[in-house]
Amino acid sequence: MRIALIAAAFGLVLSGACDRPREPFHSERLLAMATWVELVFEAPDPERAAAVVADVERMLRSFERDYYAWADGELAHLNAALARGERLRVDPKLAALLLAAREYGERSGRTFDPAVGDIVELWGFHSEAAPPQPPPSAADVAAWVGRDTGIRHLTIAADGTIAAARPPGKLDLGGIAKGEAVDRILAQLSAAGVSDALVNAGGDVRVSGSRGGRAWRIGIQKPRGDGILGLVALASGEAVFTSGDYERFFEVDGQRMHHIIDPATGFPVGHTQAVTVIADGGVAADAAATALLVAGPERWLAVAKNLGVSHALRVDATGAIEMTASMRDRFQALGSADTDIIAASSKGGSH
Ligand code: AMP
Ligand code: MG
Repeated sequence: MRIALIAAAFGLVLSGACDRPREPFHSERLLAMATWVELVFEAPDPERAAAVVADVERMLRSFERDYYAWADGELAHLNAALARGERLRVDPKLAALLLAAREYGERSGRTFDPAVGDIVELWGFHSEAAPPQPPPSAADVAAWVGRDTGIRHLTIAADGTIAAARPPGKLDLGGIAKGEAVDRILAQLSAAGVSDALVNAGGDVRVSGSRGGRAWRIGIQKPRGDGILGLVALASGEAVFTSGDYERFFEVDGQRMHHIIDPATGFPVGHTQAVTVIADGGVAADAAATALLVAGPERWLAVAKNLGVSHALRVDATGAIEMTASMRDRFQALGSADTDIIAASSKGGSH
């Protein structure tokens, strides 16, 4: 899977290469969080560019360990402590992200749920190894849905101490962590004096400033087949994130089983191929894209409103596209030649 993922990511990079910013833009790729993280930024001084990239890489190495529930890092230690009924004081940044995740959970009507770790694991989407075949039994899935656990049992103290009245189930920040990582990278670049930058974490993008005086343009990949649906121009600080059923999936009796689970059913979402959201930050865009993918045809507009999201695009199971009115104003049905980057996630098929 790792090879397929890398190959797919290279496809993404090359497809954007012909329209890559020229000097003084610096372009760098790092393999982190099981995907390519691409940085494009204004850096007149190559030494300073190398130093800031090294800083970003250091941050990502600890981030992927501490924010991934199945690594040997802080989130895994927290999950282990909570499962034993113990409390644990974590880094204030992790505590803040858990707090944000819980709030997104509440505001999204629990379509976004950071306590999905056990069911994600049951389906086998936590690892890069092939998911178990056959998929989990209906009884196991029903037992997860019916359990009386969840993030509402968490208390998150100001000093970063996390406790739970009852074990909440395994916390999984996978639906929001890329947003946090992208935000942190942009903050690092900004602290290093870089004001014009694009960060692309496996198809999820946030920008600062502009590309040589004009807005950064991001192509939104079609969830099926090749090419882009269209593109959006981003203002400084905006992020465009996509959740899709094509990133990690396998098929059972012709039905696509993928890594985003409806917490109400315990099953992968079947009604939506992809959702793209523009928001003012990576965390907000990431949480909302996941939530709106789960929310489905009847609820996605209401959930977007609750989350304060005005720019969202949904591709339903048939490939039909719906957009909020604000997204329609921003969306340009142009070709990939006009983009700075294609917001493509790896379409590797089964992993
Ligand atoms: P994303 O690509 O941002 O939509 O995140 C997908 C990842 O979030 C999955 O691989 C799971 O780790 C996790 N996840 C799956 N379902 C949900 C959900 N309903 N709410 C929050 N996180 C989820
Ligand atoms: Mg997300």
